[in-house]
Amino acid sequence: MQVRKLLRQRDVRPDKALGQNFLLDPTILERIAEAADLGSDNLVLEIGAGTGALTTFLARDARHVVALEIDQRLIPILETELAGFDNVSVIQGDILALDPAALVRGVVPGPGESPLPYQVVGNLPYYITSAILRHVLEADPRPGRIVVTVQREVAQRIVAEPGHMSVLAVSVQFHGDPELLFSIKPGSFYPSPDVDSAVVRIDVHPSPPVPDDEVDAFFTVVRAGFSQRRKQLHNSLSAGLGERISKHEAAEGLEEVGIDPRRRAQSLSVEEWITVTRALRDILQS
Ligand code: SAM
Repeated sequence: MQVRKLLRQRDVRPDKALGQNFLLDPTILERIAEAADLGSDNLVLEIGAGTGALTTFLARDARHVVALEIDQRLIPILETELAGFDNVSVIQGDILALDPAALVRGVVPGPGESPLPYQVVGNLPYYITSAILRHVLEADPRPGRIVVTVQREVAQRIVAEPGHMSVLAVSVQFHGDPELLFSIKPGSFYPSPDVDSAVVRIDVHPSPPVPDDEVDAFFTVVRAGFSQRRKQLHNSLSAGLGERISKHEAAEGLEEVGIDPRRRAQSLSVEEWITVTRALRDILQS
């Protein structure tokens, strides 16, 4: 049923504070589901199921969809709209307070002991996009693929190349390969958001590019590097690491691994941040 009508029937007004902009265009909903490339082996965690518009397209192709929604007022709508599907579970809750992997664990028995792989799909609430991406990328086990609608400007930041990197771009590209698939105009949503949107697909690496015990150090160094993004790298790293390392030591360490200390954080690729982390860790430990 039409989103506006469904909401009116239950006297539900979209809540801006929860990022409620419902997608109306079935062609776009179908393209999002196609981008997830689901098959009968796939479990899906849908974040922010709303009134179930996208859920029905996902349920058509996937083995099972866990439709998570924070807003209690939308749960009866979801349950009614999805009643015809026996491969959908509706759950009320806040994604940031829940373990994404636990939400899909056990909904369908996996082969042997290993849990079935899962994918995360959602037209995300824009006010917490970065927090949701970080939360999902750090889940254990991680999803194999993520397909999300986000603000277009955020999508562009996620797929940025060296020269325009940010903590968000480094975090996402550390865990996977992101691709901006297509843009969506505000008029495709009810109510219309103030900004353009875009769909991003992230193919998540099977494991992080550094051993588990180096992941925390990597992000500590990256955040330090971006703490004063207009400054040269050796200055921002020294300041961001609380001067546990002097500017001079930082410059020497960077030069030793072939990275010009006068560069700025936004110019480094993920591989270069890994090199920087290893160089500084050696200094910090010596
Ligand atoms: N999937 C629907 C669609 O495409 O029309 C709704 C998308 S709307 C942009 C985002 C949805 O996320 C809303 O239904 C909102 O209530 C829900 N939401 C907001 N914060 C959430 C959170 N922390 N955990 C789970 N769902 C949340």
